[in-house]
Amino acid sequence: MLVALIDHALIYESLLGRFGDLHWWPAETSDEILVGSILTQNTSWKNVEKAIEQLKDGNLISLESIADANEEDLAQRIRISGFYRQKAARLHSISMEIVHRHGSLDRMRSIDTEELIAFFGGMKGIGKETLDSILLYIFERPVMVMDSYSRRILSRVSYPEYAEDHAIQQAALSDLQCSVDALKNYHACLVELGKNYCRKTPECAECPLKHDCNYAMDLSSP
Ligand code: SF4
Repeated sequence: MLVALIDHALIYESLLGRFGDLHWWPAETSDEILVGSILTQNTSWKNVEKAIEQLKDGNLISLESIADANEEDLAQRIRISGFYRQKAARLHSISMEIVHRHGSLDRMRSIDTEELIAFFGGMKGIGKETLDSILLYIFERPVMVMDSYSRRILSRVSYPEYAEDHAIQQAALSDLQCSVDALKNYHACLVELGKNYCRKTPECAECPLKHDCNYAMDLSSP
């Protein structure tokens, strides 16, 4: 029988059973999360890690230091992350905007979510996915991050039904009772699943979602 709707609580339970708590976002500070969320656009996390190491070597991982940095130096240090000149310019301008207007990310913690969306959403280089990551991982607001992994997995789980990102995100908030910790780890687990099982060509036999996934059940039906 095909599963008509996505039950995020059920999917998360299966993912948690396989992957456990993945402790995302992998960063030491909020500034590093923000830098990583910009660098990760259009590249692999491995490359982001190398670029962040280069920034740390030059003491350029805080927003204050990035705001004061030479843009060409920044660009050379993050070269491995691709689109490095564009990313350097964006890191520089975003850092300057935060430091000059608010002082630091920590000082922004009491700002309400709508105001954070207006502030970050208006910046070049911060699209919907990056904005949602910032809200969830830095400001601990209940948001489901939709990225290419979650889209691919959830569209297969609900196959042939298709829901818009917004509807999926709202359902996830309700199913996971707006728990920030669960939403963080749900996103992390979906990324892990997308990297290891639900690739372009899915490996359903070992996937922890094979009994909850319409695509897998459709493949195995005679
Ligand atoms: S069962 Fe297959 S299609 Fe479904 S989520 Fe897992 S790998 Fe993807």
